[in-house]
Amino acid sequence: MKRDGSVRYGMAVDTRSCVGCSACVLACKSENDVPDGHARRWVNQIVSGTFPELKMSIWSDSCQHCDDAPCVSNCPTGSSHVDSASGTVQVDRSRCTGCKACMVSCPYNARFVHPDGFVDKCTLCLHRLEQGRSTACAEVCPASAIVVGDLNDPASRVSRMLRLRKWRQQKTAAGTNPKFFLVD
Ligand code: SF4
Repeated sequence: MKRDGSVRYGMAVDTRSCVGCSACVLACKSENDVPDGHARRWVNQIVSGTFPELKMSIWSDSCQHCDDAPCVSNCPTGSSHVDSASGTVQVDRSRCTGCKACMVSCPYNARFVHPDGFVDKCTLCLHRLEQGRSTACAEVCPASAIVVGDLNDPASRVSRMLRLRKWRQQKTAAGTNPKFFLVD
């Protein structure tokens, strides 16, 4: 991963490919040692329409790594911050007091209090990105529905996907500018 500040990582989830198997959820828990009863990612299953014309939307979800993250601006200690090398939103455990200001301000309910007292959430597997690998959730997805990459690189798979396909972001009214895209 380049460290000159030019990289801006994001995630796209192909809602036409995601089958809701939750392999991503389990891989994330295993990779990141997420404690029992908590999760850094989850799978949404939303049914819409009127019987018998019903439609189910399924997608894997997590922290949106917002460009204008209220969890960062509302953190009183600077624990929640934007990692300048990757553009991802991270939590510095050593500075977190567990006050939950970030949890209250996150429109995506993406955070939880770790039993050890700090607030935790998806890191976009920054430790893997730094090694040139993808996230655990993307790697394990049997449908290749999760795509992670540099949004600033027009040649990255995620950038090409967003150029070629129709996409949307969640809860845009919150003004957070998420780097998480649902590709329909
Ligand atoms: Fe912060 Fe929530 Fe946005 Fe993640 S989704 S960056 S926790 S406001």
